[in-house]
Amino acid sequence: MKSRKADTHRPTRAPDAQGRWEQARAWARASLLAGLSLAFFGLGCDEKERPRILIIGIDGASPEIAFPMLREGKLPHLAKIAAEGVSGPLRSVLPLFSPRIWNTIATGRPANQHGVFAFVKPSKSDDKELYLSGDRKVPALWNILSQSGRSVGVVNWWTTYPPEKINGVMVSDHFFPEQISMLKKTFKAERASLGALVHPEAWTERAQEQLVNPEALDEWPNFLAENDALPHWVSRPTLNQQFTTDQEIARVALGLQADYKPDVLMVLLPGIDRISHWLWGNLEPADSYPPGLQPSASEREAGANALRHYYMFTDALIGQLAADYGPEDLVLVISDHGFEAGVSLMLLTGKHDTPAALNGVLFARGRGIPRGESAGRVNVFEIAPSVLAFADLPVPRDMAEEPAGFLGPIEPDWIPSYDDMAIERHLASRSGNEDVIIDHLRALGYLEDDSPPEENSKQPAP
Ligand SMILES: [Zn+2]
Repeated sequence: MKSRKADTHRPTRAPDAQGRWEQARAWARASLLAGLSLAFFGLGCDEKERPRILIIGIDGASPEIAFPMLREGKLPHLAKIAAEGVSGPLRSVLPLFSPRIWNTIATGRPANQHGVFAFVKPSKSDDKELYLSGDRKVPALWNILSQSGRSVGVVNWWTTYPPEKINGVMVSDHFFPEQISMLKKTFKAERASLGALVHPEAWTERAQEQLVNPEALDEWPNFLAENDALPHWVSRPTLNQQFTTDQEIARVALGLQADYKPDVLMVLLPGIDRISHWLWGNLEPADSYPPGLQPSASEREAGANALRHYYMFTDALIGQLAADYGPEDLVLVISDHGFEAGVSLMLLTGKHDTPAALNGVLFARGRGIPRGESAGRVNVFEIAPSVLAFADLPVPRDMAEEPAGFLGPIEPDWIPSYDDMAIERHLASRSGNEDVIIDHLRALGYLEDDSPPEENSKQPAP
């Protein structure tokens, strides 16, 4: 462990933590004086600046598409990370429900410990409710990092509503439902009355501006809205909304980087998953389609091209998000699962239900990580302990796995657990967005099966 003194080089800038900010400034002044006197005596101040951490989640990105495209030179930013670091498949765990796995990634724990089993809570009535942040029973990375004095930014991670009072900024996943953002553009002030979607609440207005800030992001030609060649049954407005939402998320994340430059930033881009649900079937041979519904060769080609194009677009977003990070910083890009063909509404589409979709992707580069190598066997449980080890923080023994081998020779400190830490949240008043999100998930085919996940019976008491 390096000295805690290093913390004073990067005082927290979260505006809600005024007291701590003041305290940090006092420490910084004291540290500066100490450093000056050390320098005066010829000892110098040899502490290196601690590397920052960027984690980008690309929901549903599959090694079957990503790695061939990488080799063809179509994903230059991911290729750069792979060349400067490691890459390979990231092994997930069934059932492949995104919120469940992204919570495992953020906590290092299985669902029967972290408590987020699926999209909606089991209910006997039709009145379904999404899992909320308060359903998470164990600390996530942002809680642990906050308690350790690190500044954190979180943008659109699953199950972050109501936002948690972290040492930094949390823009919850409920800030981004596509329909709500369209409403927001129409009615402008609408969002402010919906309760806290952002922590600190004072940053909400800035996040709303940044959502649509044309300066924030390089422009990417729209390849979905006007693409007449796509299979006739594909909803182009729906695809286009994913394209819009991913850009909104990237803009907000870039605004957060610009305003706070947090020690650790975690961003989740859901678009590849949503697009793959519509278009993956086009990668399959025409005779895989149900009789009578076989798309034409040109429709299949257009569908497959649009899907690949979405990977290129995502790669460009990754490039912009990672642009500000130095070679010592950790840049980690991961997905929670891959994809496979599936039949939905009598159409061949995409799904992620079976072991065929178990592998996501992993790209990582930063201090100590070997260059241009395979990441080896890595699974979703290894991400959280790896991030803590890279951040030079103790790794808790109650995480399911240890730090991944690709980090190189790291010997972390160990502690039994972080579970006794207090986690503060904004009030769980209804944001008003839940029904819209449930309708949206149903439209995507996520909510066809209403039976509660099997592990619910094993859920420990809070
Ligand atoms: Zn997913």
